[in-house]
Amino acid sequence: MPHQDAPTPLADELREAVAAGFPLAVADLSRLVRIPSVSWDGFDHAHVEASAEAVRALAADTGVFDDIDVVQVPYGDAGKLGLPAVIATRAARNGRPTIMLYAHHDVQPEGESEVWDSTPYEPTLRGDRLYGRGAADDKAGVMAHIGAIRALVAVGGEDLDVGLVLFVEGEEEFGSRSLHEILRRYQDRIKSDVIVVADSGNWDLDTPALTIALRGAVAFNLRITTLAHASHSGMMGGAVPDAPMAAIELLSTLWKKDGSVAVEGLTSHDEHTPAYDEAKLREESGLLEGVSPIGKGDILSRTWYQPSITVTGMDIPNIRNASNTLVPSVRVRISARVAPGQTWQDAFAAIEAHLLSHAPFGAEISIEDLDTGNPFLVDSSGWAAEDALATMTEAYGREAVEIGAGGSIPFIADLVELFPGAQILITGVEDPESRAHSPNESVHLPTFQRAILSEALLLSRLNARSSD
Ligand SMILES: [Zn+2]
Repeated sequence: MPHQDAPTPLADELREAVAAGFPLAVADLSRLVRIPSVSWDGFDHAHVEASAEAVRALAADTGVFDDIDVVQVPYGDAGKLGLPAVIATRAARNGRPTIMLYAHHDVQPEGESEVWDSTPYEPTLRGDRLYGRGAADDKAGVMAHIGAIRALVAVGGEDLDVGLVLFVEGEEEFGSRSLHEILRRYQDRIKSDVIVVADSGNWDLDTPALTIALRGAVAFNLRITTLAHASHSGMMGGAVPDAPMAAIELLSTLWKKDGSVAVEGLTSHDEHTPAYDEAKLREESGLLEGVSPIGKGDILSRTWYQPSITVTGMDIPNIRNASNTLVPSVRVRISARVAPGQTWQDAFAAIEAHLLSHAPFGAEISIEDLDTGNPFLVDSSGWAAEDALATMTEAYGREAVEIGAGGSIPFIADLVELFPGAQILITGVEDPESRAHSPNESVHLPTFQRAILSEALLLSRLNARSSD
């Protein structure tokens, strides 16, 4: 068993193999980015099928897998068919552990394309970065797995004893709706000792990170209704409340004056965070000069370990259609983040109770389209985490750090439930500039190369571990 400080077996050879294979990895990543595999309803899912097929072919080309399937599984009461996931498996030999390599091949919609500096689905190189929807989230994750496997094959695939499960989901960006059913159905085939989830990011361009905490999420549509019908705002205004007024009143109770959440019953997680100053927050968030940050406590504890509530959309007449009318009903999309240590159920109950008890003027309140995910804390004391931190440090030449993430990866709760004994390693290729989900998403190519190398080194180390 290698000591943490001992170099990884074949480290030099793997470094060379990753460098030699990198142009192909970038070309394959670009090919994946050209497929607009948006998993949301209302988008053409033929593209998601095409990207699943492209991933299947990439897996087949590595030559290491015994079985490869593109699977689509019905879910929910209506038996709606989920979007295609790729499952490729290879059995472990000689008592070595089995490693699941997770990523997703679907993407978020491109949003307002005029805000992009280049065409969203045309991979474009500017400086050290490759721009395009999915270039970072999460097609770079897919290619980190493929690139690492290729490097291992290049240095002597016949010595590869670890079992591998490449699992590339096709609807992560649309709530992983059929994932639980896929995991349940293929449980025996994909059971793993270690699960590498390459869908997160690094501390900065030079410093690799293992993500050990994720916030959960609760999102829903809130409808606020005060009137049975619209009426003239000059005739009735000032005597009865319109729905926008009630909504503004109600929403304003969600936050304290400092911008931290004011909902009783939402909890925080008590954990030290690395130093991160206001200047860095301003730079990374684009906070305007003269506008103050919100919240309290260490800055990173606000995004990693405290709850937050954000209004992400409103259905209300737009200005073009703004007549002199009292609007009877409005809808608001609320997106809340749940601190590690609290279940989404508890968090949702607290928010719902707050909204109902604070409804101004007795306005009618209803909630629909609930999307949820539990927060997660990783146990980073196992041998797999030790190997991951050591190989990241080796690949990046800088000590790896453990970080939290403000975003959520709801399906991790499914993985934990179905594979309770597995060690989960959340890695990724993103950096603070990657802008996943936003216009001008990009991957930093040197980081992409180091991510492939650190995963190749990790698999090489795990290839020397025993599975128990
Ligand atoms: Zn992702």
